[in-house]
Amino acid sequence: MSDHHPHEEAATMSPYAARIRAIEALLLERGILTEPEVQDRISYMESRSPANGAKLVARAWVDEDFKERLLSDGKAAASELGIDPTHPAEFVVVENTPEVHNLIVCTLCSCYPRAILGRPPDWYKSFNYRSRAVREPRAVMREFGFEPSEDVEVIVHDSTADVRYMVLPMRPEGTENLSEEELAELVTRDSLVGVSVPRYAGS
Ligand code: FE
Repeated sequence: MSDHHPHEEAATMSPYAARIRAIEALLLERGILTEPEVQDRISYMESRSPANGAKLVARAWVDEDFKERLLSDGKAAASELGIDPTHPAEFVVVENTPEVHNLIVCTLCSCYPRAILGRPPDWYKSFNYRSRAVREPRAVMREFGFEPSEDVEVIVHDSTADVRYMVLPMRPEGTENLSEEELAELVTRDSLVGVSVPRYAGS
């Protein structure tokens, strides 16, 4: 990621990566961007991770008031936990309940709450996921090893440039004695997208 060898890499790079590298080189050459600015941006993206989402979820599980704030103003709630949510898009958190399971997709491209969770997984960007999540969400979730029961309504949220979604999963049973940190460890990236749910094996 940090090594820049544009000419050596050119042969094995995808056409898209090669194009990006060419644009980057041009922006640097014209003085529109500086190398430190590019590195800052990379560091920023690398500092975002699903661990941020897990922190938000674990706090919501132990603090009902925080949960209400997370669901009503996701960015403000993230700021409370020291997560800088700066991004022009809205950050909306949708809650799983015994009646409703939420699934996130971007049918158009790969919109994702990157300011909070970092880069989306490759499968999220795949045509397969984008085209099937809306049409057959249950079949998609089954492939991730998760199947909500038939009486649970599945709601699919299509992300856009303006709105990015994250799922607030349900707290697994048997976790009453876990600390907030231990709870956060149960929250997987997949469960924040809704293709799976946090699981607790018990102690
Ligand atoms: Fe998108």
